[in-house]
Amino acid sequence: MSQRYFVETRISGARATLVDAEAHHLAHVMRAKAGDQVILFDGAGGEYAAVVERVARSTIELAVLAHRAIERELAAPVVVGASLPKGDRQRWLIEKLVELGVTDFVPLATARGVAQPVGNVVDRLRRAVVEASKQCGRNRLMQIQPPQEWRAFVCDAPAAAGRLIAHPGADRTLADVVRGAPSAAAAGVFLGVGPEGGFTDDEARLALSAGWTGVDLGARILRVETAAATLAAAAAIMLGESAPSSNDA
Ligand code: SAH
Repeated sequence: MSQRYFVETRISGARATLVDAEAHHLAHVMRAKAGDQVILFDGAGGEYAAVVERVARSTIELAVLAHRAIERELAAPVVVGASLPKGDRQRWLIEKLVELGVTDFVPLATARGVAQPVGNVVDRLRRAVVEASKQCGRNRLMQIQPPQEWRAFVCDAPAAAGRLIAHPGADRTLADVVRGAPSAAAAGVFLGVGPEGGFTDDEARLALSAGWTGVDLGARILRVETAAATLAAAAAIMLGESAPSSNDA
């Protein structure tokens, strides 16, 4: 896959401009010059072949050559609700969920949740989405949704979707749900992961009584981000992500 850059404003005409971190990356890290070919994406679908026309101090002007309707998405939406871990692990979580094809991330407010997104956290998470999308070839951005209470997340998920809550000791294994899944997953998959302190019994019960399936992820206790990535990988399998890819990178 060639060098990919994210354009903040929708590409509509024959020109595009890179600004901020993207301009910096192309100008100062990649040392672009006029005539260099790159790929642009604006998060709205597909990607664009483009050529650098002018490198200015903080912006880069490009000529857009052609749109290619290439998507690297899963067959249906995958929504992950998780309590945010602390520090650097937030970035790792977001990066892996983007790579795995998750479409929406919802920071959850739970009884034992610690880090809620405040201040510029959402901006930082969104930047992590862009970086991961550049690297993995996604042309649509995983959306960082506003924080939600666990109850709202549980109750708003459509009953037609696959709905899995990771909870140690739950009576289904990951293998059970992956095997039984394809029909349930066609309408999308919602995944719930608790905070480091775990879901309370009430929170787990709420989901189960709303029709969610509890999943045990094995004998070891996983970090929030490991549990979320594991569930997201299972969702990708449920959605039929098994064909060999034709990536060139
Ligand atoms: N002490 C907590 C562990 C929390 S781990 C407890 O016993 O519940 C953080 C979250 O990751 C959990 O709330 C759960 O959603 C998920 N998780 C971690 N390990 C898991 C496992 N082995 N099985 C199921 N879910 C797990």
